[in-house]
Parts: sequence; C-alpha cells; structure tokens
Amino acid sequence: MYTPLKRGNLPVVQYNPVNCSKCLSYLNPYCAVDFASKFWTCPFCSQKNSFPPNYAGMDPQHLVSELFPENTTIEYRTPISTNAVPPVFLFVVDTAMKHQDEILHLKKALLQALQAIPSNCFVGLITYGANVQVYELSYPHCRRCIVFSGETEVTPAGVQTLLGLHPVKPGTSHAAQLNNKYILPLESILENLTSIVEELQIDPQQFKKGEERKACATGVALSVALAIMESIFPKIGGRIINLSAGPCTVGPGVVVGRDLSEPIRSHYHLRKEEAKYVTAAIAYYNKLAARAVAQGHAVDIFSASLDQTGLLEMHPLANNTGGVLVSTESFIHEIVKQSLRKLFQKDDDGHLSMKFNGTIEVIQSKELKVCGAIGHLQSLGKKNAYVSETAMGIGGTNAWKMCTMDPNTSYAFYFEVVNAHNNIIPADNYGLVQFRTNYIHPSGERVQRVTTIAKTWSPPSAGLNALLPGFDQEACAALIARYAVFKAENEEAQPIKFIDRHLIQFIHAFGSYTKDAPESLKYPPQIAIYPEFMFHLRRGNLIQIFGTSPDETAYYRHYLLRESVSSCLIMIQPALDSYSFDVDEPQPVLLSLSSVLPDKILLLDTFFHVVVFSGETIAAWRKAGYQDQEGYENFKQLLEVPVQDATMILMNRFPMPMYVVCDQGSSQARFLLAVLDPGKTGATLSSPNAVGPAATTSQEIYSDDVPLSVFMEHLKKKVVSYEG
Ligand SMILES: [Zn+2]
Repeated sequence: MYTPLKRGNLPVVQYNPVNCSKCLSYLNPYCAVDFASKFWTCPFCSQKNSFPPNYAGMDPQHLVSELFPENTTIEYRTPISTNAVPPVFLFVVDTAMKHQDEILHLKKALLQALQAIPSNCFVGLITYGANVQVYELSYPHCRRCIVFSGETEVTPAGVQTLLGLHPVKPGTSHAAQLNNKYILPLESILENLTSIVEELQIDPQQFKKGEERKACATGVALSVALAIMESIFPKIGGRIINLSAGPCTVGPGVVVGRDLSEPIRSHYHLRKEEAKYVTAAIAYYNKLAARAVAQGHAVDIFSASLDQTGLLEMHPLANNTGGVLVSTESFIHEIVKQSLRKLFQKDDDGHLSMKFNGTIEVIQSKELKVCGAIGHLQSLGKKNAYVSETAMGIGGTNAWKMCTMDPNTSYAFYFEVVNAHNNIIPADNYGLVQFRTNYIHPSGERVQRVTTIAKTWSPPSAGLNALLPGFDQEACAALIARYAVFKAENEEAQPIKFIDRHLIQFIHAFGSYTKDAPESLKYPPQIAIYPEFMFHLRRGNLIQIFGTSPDETAYYRHYLLRESVSSCLIMIQPALDSYSFDVDEPQPVLLSLSSVLPDKILLLDTFFHVVVFSGETIAAWRKAGYQDQEGYENFKQLLEVPVQDATMILMNRFPMPMYVVCDQGSSQARFLLAVLDPGKTGATLSSPNAVGPAATTSQEIYSDDVPLSVFMEHLKKKVVSYEG
C-alpha cells in the first residue's frame, strides 16, 4: 500500500534525478558508491554508472540528498513553466430538486466553495434539470446562458460550435485559455458568478400524467462539461464537480424513468437482471470517464438525495479519474458543505492540497514482477520484462495514470517473486521496489516524488515462518480487501469464497498444528488478529450487499479503493470504544454484543458512520436530567467526552461521516448492532439459521452470517484438514 503524497518532512531538491544507464532506476540510498572513482552501482541491475559532473565534490562527509540513508523518499521539483495554467473547476449543478430548503443550502455550499478556491483558478458553472444551461461569466450586465436539450446527446464538436469555443492545443500559452466566456479566472468573474449562484432557482418543470420524478439530465450535463474542458483545457489539471440532487431521468445515462411506480434498481433487480437501464447507463458513464481520463480531468460526484442517484452507474467517473464520491440524504446536512470545503483544503504552503495529472511507475529488482495495482488509477499500458503475466487488479503494465490525487490517496500494488528456487540470492542483495510519482503541483511546478524500498531476502531453507517478522497483518488485510472488492466488481467472482480460500491457505501456510487436530492450531503473533479482520470483512458492507443499495455499495467500495491502510482497517473492522465511570480513558472493546452494557457509552467509527450509543442506564439518567444537577458533574463529563471525540472524527475526515446519536433499544441503534458480532446467544440478530447446519464447500468456511467463535472453529477445522 503506497500513499504517494503522504504528508511529512521530505527532502526537496531542485534538480533532475540521476538515473542508471541500464535500467533507468534513480540514484537512491541503497546504491553502493565508490567515492574515489566517482562510480555508483545500481542495486536493481548491478550496472556501474558514473556520476554527472555536478556531483564531483561529493565525499562520504558531503553526500547528496538522495544518498542519505533516511531519504528513502525524495522530491524533485522542476521550476514553474511560464505556460503553467492554474487548476480548473467546473461546477455541474442539479437544480431539479423539490424543496426550497434544498436549493438554499446548495447555494450556500457553492458560495462557500467559491470562497475556498484560490482566485487565480479557472471556474465555470453549468446547471441542469430538464435541460442543461452553460453560463456566460464574462458578461456582467445581464444573465446569459446557452441552453442544451437534456434529451439528446450533443457531440463534442456540436458543443464547441454552439458555444463558439476555439479549441486550444495542449501546451499552448496561458492566453489561449482566456479566450472563452464560460470558464475564467475566479478573480475576474467572482462578483458575476456569485450573483448567478445567489439567483439560482429550482428548475421549473412540467409534469405529464404518470410522471412524478423530476426531469434530470445528468448525462447530457456531464457530457457538455467534458466537451468544454476538452476543448479549452486539454491535459490541464481540473475537476468537474457534480452536485446531484437526484437520479438521471432523461436523455443518455438514464438510471430510472420518471414514473415513481418504477423503483430505481436494487441489488435484487441486478441479480435477477431486471434492471433495464443499468447496462446502457454504465456503458455511457464509462465512455464519459474514458474521455475525462484521456484529458487528465477528474470528476467528483456529490450526491444529496433520500433515494439513490445512480452512483452505481456513475462511479467510474470518480474511480477512474481519482475524483471523489460524497453521498448524503440532503444538501441541508452539513456533509456536502463540509466535504466540499475540505476538497479545497490547503497545504501549509497555502496551495491546494490536491495534485493533478499524475503518473506512477514502479521499477523493481529482477527477482520481482509487478502484477498490478488497485486504486483510483488507470493503466498506461507500459509493458516490459518485469511486468507479470498474472494480472492482479489493473495489470499488464508498470505505469499508471491518475487525473488527481490528494494526501490520502493510496494505491495497492501487487508483486510476485519470480526467482527460481535453486537460484541463491547473495545475502547482501535486497529485493527493491522504486515508486516514481509524477504530478503537477497547483502552483504549476512539475514534481517527481521517488520512494525506494528495500527488503532482505529470506533463503528457502529458512522456511515460510522466517517471513513473519516482516509481515504486516493490517496492510495485508487492506490489500486482500481491495483485491476481493476488485474481483467482485470486475470478475463477478464471489468475494466470500475468495476470502475464505485465501484465509484457509494463509493459515495453513503460517499457522502451526497437527493434522486433523483443530484444537492444536496456533497462530504466530504476527498473524494472530488477521482471521478476525477477514471475519469482519466478509460480513461487512464492503462485501455483503444484503440490506444496502447498489449506490451504497459503490460508495463504500470507492473509499476502500482510495484510503490508507489505517482508514481501510476502520472500514473492514470498525473501531469501538467504551466510556464509563471506572476509567478515565476510553477503552477499545470487542466488536461484540457483549460490549453493550447498560452503564457504558460506546463510540463506533465505521469510517462512514460515527455512532454515539448510550447504554440503558446512562440513557435513563440522561433523560432524568442528572447531568444538569449539582453533584453529578462526573456524569455530565461522561456524556460530553464521547461527543467531543466523535466531533474530532467528523471534523477531520473526508468525506464527513454521518453522525448518529442513539440509545440502547432505539431504532437508530441498528447502526451499531449491524456491525457487532452477534456472539453465541445473539445469532438471531442477523439470521435465524445462523448457527444451524449450513452446507459448505471445502473452500468455504461458513456460508451464513455466524458469530466469530463459530467462524474461528470452522476455520480451524478447514485448515487442519486442508489438502492444498
Ligand atoms: Zn540499474
């Protein structure tokens, strides 16, 4: 798992990297340097290379930055080119909502965003309902917009003609971009754009008999937005930010009809192949996503609706471009406003923290081949001898592209060891991987961040368990979760079967036991909590689709494919803390029904939901108002601390999670109960037959939702009888 833009104190140099003449890897701390003869030996391919002349003064006391042992990551910056165009933000705003409150809050969110965007950035506005309006921002005296029918697709050439655009060639000067009326530097249009946003109205619509959903032309709106961006800002970093109030109901990209008697597709409809729009809609949005990727433009979708809006069909727009999905029930909620503010957050140097037009390339030692990557990136189709024939995720390449990324964006990479068993690697050789991430900083600088990782090899004679000291079970859980989700989405594989097979084989390889004696199975400490991660993964919403909508599934999986190991772990196995009078600090407790106690408050963090749950007694005391009485200050504090801790999570996370406050026995408590292990007595919580006999195959641990204890017993049985 690699987070290229992870924040930290990094060495930054203003020159170009020195590369190996044979394998092109960059000079790094693992290179052997001969100071006398000014040569360095490449640790990837053993090539001897001479240093360039400007390294002549180097000696062991005066090393260049890239050779310091601690500088395994280093940043190379190239000065800003005079052609640098500031980032571009095109808002594509759905005004086909039902309530005035909704549009009021939508406008607030937009105005806040305009405040957060640096004034030199290019900004444009498109609104849509039944039709699509593109606003002229250069003309302050009266409102002018060009209207496109929402029913029919317009070709990019058609959009150019209708808007009078003069297509710009990539790499031409900044002035070319100013020659349009629709997307202009914020400083020159702020006043005009602010008034337009303030005057936005709900899309006026006519309803025919039987039509109850609003006409909403999301498909055409996004297509027009892409055409404008392609035409004026080709290969220039930018985002199309879609604020959506409902599903696309007209024109290309329809996800549901306007008749309310026709429900939007569910997982049930998908399984039964009764979702009549889904194939065409996915194909349509995939096509749009490919256009965005080709030009380096990201697409974000902020969805605010009680019902689904089509994230299932549209999510490739965000996933393939590095854009974000944010989903909530209404624009009135703080979630859209805060997440939009956070999208435009700045680094310590005052620049936007998002980066654009990125590529990432991996180079590794000859004993390794790269199988693929999983995350919000796309293949650049660069194949060489070090690319494995076995694809895992997006494979068949050693380089990928991402239109945008931010300091949280993390990518999973998968490698295989291809060293022949009888080929003994010298003890002083490392297995190396070099990640080279190139991107455009919002300032216009081109930056290359290089991380070189080295691991020592373990000889075959040492046995598999010699690998355990270097094993990170948390990273492994995140990697396997991403792979399971990737398979579920792209290969229609059954993710539970895959997880179970993997877990059985894994424990078979690293656990110690006597054949056919389940009670003898012991886990080495380095893998001790791994089975529990897999237990929670296979019953959570990343894998299970029961009780969730296709949009929710797409949304949850979007973040699993985007976030760092620590965030992925919260999604896999939510964090549960208990607060009580007995202890000062909150205690992490088991995700089990046994942690629910009358005199405790629980704080649950699933990444998407933050739940403060009061036990019965606590709730009763609170309702009786003890916290406001003298002598009960302790109780008052006990109530406050988890709320403060929850607030911290809400403020710091992107996207802002949904906040639930509930008491034991209330209906909202389901947010907590759904993720708890039902335990031995509570099996009926999720399925009446959970502990009954269930038929399993040799590759499956249990086919039903069962308590952790039952799962672990079955795992032991499967492992000790595993035949390979
Ligand atoms: Zn080399």
